[in-house]
Amino acid sequence: MARLDGKVAIISGGARGMGECEARLFAAEGASVLIGDLLDDAGEVVAASIVAAGGRCVYRHLDVTSEEDWSAAVSAAVSAFGRLDILVNNAGIGSSSHRIEDEPEEAWDRTMDVNAKGVFLGTRAAIPAMLDVGGGSIINISSQLGIVAVPYNGSAYQSSKGAVRLFTKSAAIQYAGDGIRVNSVHPGPVVTEMTRASRADAERHEMMLARVPMGRYGEPEEVAYAVLYLASDESSFVTGSEVVVDGGWTAQ
Ligand code: NAD
Repeated sequence: MARLDGKVAIISGGARGMGECEARLFAAEGASVLIGDLLDDAGEVVAASIVAAGGRCVYRHLDVTSEEDWSAAVSAAVSAFGRLDILVNNAGIGSSSHRIEDEPEEAWDRTMDVNAKGVFLGTRAAIPAMLDVGGGSIINISSQLGIVAVPYNGSAYQSSKGAVRLFTKSAAIQYAGDGIRVNSVHPGPVVTEMTRASRADAERHEMMLARVPMGRYGEPEEVAYAVLYLASDESSFVTGSEVVVDGGWTAQ
């Protein structure tokens, strides 16, 4: 039996990067998956390739800052696959590296809207469908930078990821009695589009690597397996926890 047999999942930001990797892994483990993203062409390609490999997957346009889009995505998952068991709030954006006195208000707001409010809106939209089936698992993708700060990565990004960490615990204790588990995952630097520019900048790259005791970036699969564990019934006594997948960054 596969680890997610019979389960239905929504993954935000699943058109590329870690979200795409989780979508492929979930489908391979028996889940039916709805991918939501802004990148419609890429999302359609990922969904089609999962289906071609024998999985169950649909793509739907989803802006995580839109309450209407979330409501439509949950309805679409339930109408395509009959229920909703898992939500991965994975969509996120990086922020500029301004010092605080130079940070434009709009940049702060945009980062908080996508990374923090998007997680709230997704969670709020998914809960009724999960209550309908007696529970579920919500996994919120924070960051190692939701636990500790660095001077060169924007304060908006770090604040948004810190908000995700505590929102997760708040939701976990509110819904623990309803069978809905809520956990956060904290990747360290991972090889995706989000880190392409910093990996290409030799000085910045060295600065990042110097903070990772394992001395390298992670691969999307190394995070996806932690998300899979939290999504599956193997983690049935795990809620409100923060799973760190950071090569040791936060251990020092
Ligand atoms: P990525 O840029 O490759 O993928 C992010 C996806 O989110 C993209 O497909 C993008 O289109 C989508 N997205 C952005 N804004 C959206 C919106 N408003 N609505 C819907 N979708 C939207 O990045 P990634 O590295 O795969 O990041 C995935 C998550 O992991 C993010 O939350 C990120 O902050 C977090 N994270 C990344 C790293 C890293 O080093 N890559 C480290 C820690 C945490």
